[in-house]
Amino acid sequence: MTSETVLITGASSGIGHATAEAFLDAEWSVWATARDESDLRELREAGCTTAELDVTRPAQCRDVVEELLTVEGRLDCLVNNAGYGQMGAVEDVTTRRLNKQFDVNVYGPHRLIRAALPHMRERGEGTIINLSSVSGRVSTPGMGIYSASKFALEGLSDALRGELKPHGIDVALVEPGPVETAFSARAADELEPVEASGAYDRVYRFFEDFDAVSGGFASSQPEDVAAVVLEAASTTDPDPRYPVGPAARAMLLARYAPDRIRDRVVDLLYKLA
Ligand code: NAP
Repeated sequence: MTSETVLITGASSGIGHATAEAFLDAEWSVWATARDESDLRELREAGCTTAELDVTRPAQCRDVVEELLTVEGRLDCLVNNAGYGQMGAVEDVTTRRLNKQFDVNVYGPHRLIRAALPHMRERGEGTIINLSSVSGRVSTPGMGIYSASKFALEGLSDALRGELKPHGIDVALVEPGPVETAFSARAADELEPVEASGAYDRVYRFFEDFDAVSGGFASSQPEDVAAVVLEAASTTDPDPRYPVGPAARAMLLARYAPDRIRDRVVDLLYKLA
């Protein structure tokens, strides 16, 4: 019998890279994908099959899934990991940048889910794991665009879980707090061209003072997240949501506080900046 097969997006670095290694160690057949296949050389040498996949390209999403099925004959788990953070005050971020954020973080997973599901439904099994974030549960000033994309991914996943239950397919969300990856450097790159209106200085000051994106001492390692993704893929009845790291667990408590109290605490934190 062929081994269980996983398809991972955004495996060139960080959580995606660590996830590919974790599945390899667990003896899965791993299809590690990235926009630039040469960034996957290390994973290919370790035993992964690699492929070029930019999740914003619909035909490429379909082709990679088709090729995987031709070669492996089965897709047991899809890990929608590729993503980045567009930071900035909501007013300051253009609609073009909002579109780009959704193209990668929401439409990309949707394209791959649609490509994978006919096969998974036919087999009556499979797991879809969507990399969300604590920002998919709690939205704070300066993170509105990124949060909106992750809230969308959460909404999509909750509905999908119910739709796929009768078909034997599981859907799990993984919700890390800050993780030490290239994420914060990419977020800084995406923030740089955003034209600040001058009305939200305290928001940007908070980012600088509190290291709000990278999380400082409270951050997790990509391997911690990878272990959780593997656990969700390997269990017969995965949890709907897996928060990862101390910051995620603490911040998710804020989700259960009344909105006005949460707003007051956030306001106080931003005033301190
Ligand atoms: P990372 O090291 O920057 O990795 C992001 C990956 O996504 C890279 O491999 C990147 O590929 C890929 N990617 C970006 N745009 C893509 C596209 N259009 N098509 C295909 N791949 C694309 O960051 P990470 O922390 O591992 O992030 C992985 C996921 O975890 C993201 O969904 C992120 O939102 C989520 N997350 C991260 C944190 C954190 O603090 N790090 C916290 C919560 C959730 P390239 O090399 O081609 O750019």
